[in-house]
Amino acid sequence: MIEFPEAQVLARQLRENISRKEIKKVIVGHSPHKFAFFSESENYPALLEGKKIKTAQASGSWVQIIVGEDVSIFLSDGCRFLLHKPGGKIPEKHQLLLEFTDGYALTVSVQMYGMIFCQKNTDIDNKYFLMSREKPSPLSDEFHHRYWEKLLKESRQTLSAKAFLATEQRIPGLGNGVLQDILYRAGVNPKTKIKSLSERDKENLFREIKETLGEMTEQGGRDTEKDLFGKKGGYRTLLSKNTVGSSCSKCGKIIEKKSYMGGSIYFCPGCQPEKA
Ligand SMILES: [Zn+2]
Repeated sequence: MIEFPEAQVLARQLRENISRKEIKKVIVGHSPHKFAFFSESENYPALLEGKKIKTAQASGSWVQIIVGEDVSIFLSDGCRFLLHKPGGKIPEKHQLLLEFTDGYALTVSVQMYGMIFCQKNTDIDNKYFLMSREKPSPLSDEFHHRYWEKLLKESRQTLSAKAFLATEQRIPGLGNGVLQDILYRAGVNPKTKIKSLSERDKENLFREIKETLGEMTEQGGRDTEKDLFGKKGGYRTLLSKNTVGSSCSKCGKIIEKKSYMGGSIYFCPGCQPEKA
């Protein structure tokens, strides 16, 4: 699933590769998908065809492609993007296809579930997308110490570290994927409650949110996700399905996986002891 770093990487790659391309043809909802959601999809061709891509940007785990002066396509996590060269093979299944006048094409396919919305900028009403733009990006200067302390103070103190960091879009784009390495590098167990975190834990978490997300973004996203060209990201995940069962490089204990709050958590029992 796309999270903060991958959205940043995809938006950059889209800016570099499709800006100024003119949309010749749009196909929407080509392959039926129960959990692919659209705005009024019959309007997409009229909104997009004949217009040029202006730019692309990320907010949280969303990617927004701005088309012409007044239209946006915005895509949630759960979407997979692929850019095709002229004459390249278009995958059989996709939920959005943009064909450009120079022969290039962009396809988007929805994995488990995902939203592919296209609206005039003045009509955007998707609350999840709007929420992702309201709060400061974790890598921005507005996400500073005082803001971090306020976030911690205003949340229920019985929330676990996982619930605090990765639910309700408190921190846009920080989901259950990037969470694992942030907690591991900060030495905090996903189940430890906010009230049990020491000052040092809180400081470590603040630092690791910025450093881990920064590294993931600089290195082209995580190695568990793919970019605009179908290539895996360059950031080697420390805790993920790729490393479960191997030994921790810091203390030698075996990386564990458990189910927790409707998802998997990975942790090192040595470096991330659960605090009562
Ligand atoms: Zn360890």
